[in-house]
Amino acid sequence: MGIFDLFKKKSTSDSKVISKKPNLNVGIIDIWENEREEFENYFKSIKRPIEESLISSSEFFKNSVCPYCDFKLDKSPLKKTKCPNCHNYIYVRTNLVTKEKMLLTEEQVNKLENERDEIGTKLGAEKTALSDYYIWIEFKKTKGELEKENKKIEDLDIIWGILNKKQTEYVQQNDWGLFRNTRYEMFVLLNAERRFQEAIRMALEVCYYDINGPNNVSGIDLNLSNKKGAEYESEYIKQNWGLFRKSPSEFDKILKKYGDALRKENKALEDYYYNGTGSKPLDNELVESFPIQPFDLRSGFVAPALIFLIKELKEKLNLQWDDVKNMFIERATQVKVNIMPVSPQEAWDILYDELYNGLD
Ligand SMILES: [Zn+2]
Repeated sequence: MGIFDLFKKKSTSDSKVISKKPNLNVGIIDIWENEREEFENYFKSIKRPIEESLISSSEFFKNSVCPYCDFKLDKSPLKKTKCPNCHNYIYVRTNLVTKEKMLLTEEQVNKLENERDEIGTKLGAEKTALSDYYIWIEFKKTKGELEKENKKIEDLDIIWGILNKKQTEYVQQNDWGLFRNTRYEMFVLLNAERRFQEAIRMALEVCYYDINGPNNVSGIDLNLSNKKGAEYESEYIKQNWGLFRKSPSEFDKILKKYGDALRKENKALEDYYYNGTGSKPLDNELVESFPIQPFDLRSGFVAPALIFLIKELKEKLNLQWDDVKNMFIERATQVKVNIMPVSPQEAWDILYDELYNGLD
C-alpha cells in the first residue's frame, strides 16, 4: 500500500462538506449523555391545548355514546362510523396525553389534526436547532432567566434570538459552514411558523452559500490529508454538479495541475519515508497552491432536501420561476461577500438546473 492509499482512506472521512470542529466532537457526545433525558422531557412537555380539552371525550368511547346526539350505540366504533340516530360521522382518535380512545365530532377532529400538524412542525423545527449542544444549553439558560423574571417569550422566539447571536460569532470566527447551518435552522423556524415568504428567501440564501462551498476554517489544522481530499471533491463536482460545464477546459487544467502536484508530492513522500531516498518534501508546496478556503468550490453542493422544500414553497406561494429567480438574485446580492467565488447569476444557473431536474 502506497502513501497515496493511506491518504485516500483518510480523505474520505475528512472531506465531509460541513462538519463541526473535529476537536469538539468527543466532548459533545459525552456532554449530551447528561442532557439527553432533559432534552427528551422538554419535547414531551410542550402544551397541547386542544388535545387536553378533548380528554373528556374518552367518556363517549367508554360509554359508547354518540358525541353529537348522546345516542347510546351498540358498541364503540374503532374507525369512522355514521351514527344510526343523527347520521353524522363519528371519528375515533387516541388522546396523546392520556392514551385513551375518544369519540369525536368532525369539527373536533379537524381542530385536533390541525393542532397536531402545527405542533409536529414546530417541534421538528425546535429539535433541528436544539440538537446543537451550544444552542440547547443557551436555550435552557435563557428560559431559566425568563422564568425568574416572570417573563413569557415563545420558545421559537428564544431560539431565534440565540441563532441570531450565534451567526454573528460564526462569521467573526470564519466558520462559514456553521454560519450556513444557523441560517438553515432559521429557515426551518420560519417554515414552522408558516412565514412562507420569508422562508423561501432564506432557503434560497442557504442554497447560495452551499453552491459557494462554505467551510469552517477557524479550528482547522491545514494538514496534508485535508488537501488530498480535494482531488476527490473535485472529481465529485465534475461528475455530479455541472458548475464547470461552462468551462470544462479551465476546470481540467486546474485538476491536472493539482493531480500532477499531488502525484509528485506522493512520490517524494514515499521515497523519503519508505525507501529512505531523497530529501524530506516540503508539504507546503501543495498546500500553498490549494489551501482550503472559507468558501471553496471544491466543497460546493446543492442539498436535495432544500430543492424539494423550495419547490414546495413555490407551489404554496403560487410563484412563477421568474419570481423565484428574482428572489434568489436579490437575496444572494444582499448576502454576497467578496470571499464567495460564485456570482448570484452563475449560482442561479446552477440552482435552476437542480430545481428543474425532475420537474414534469
Ligand atoms: Zn348521533
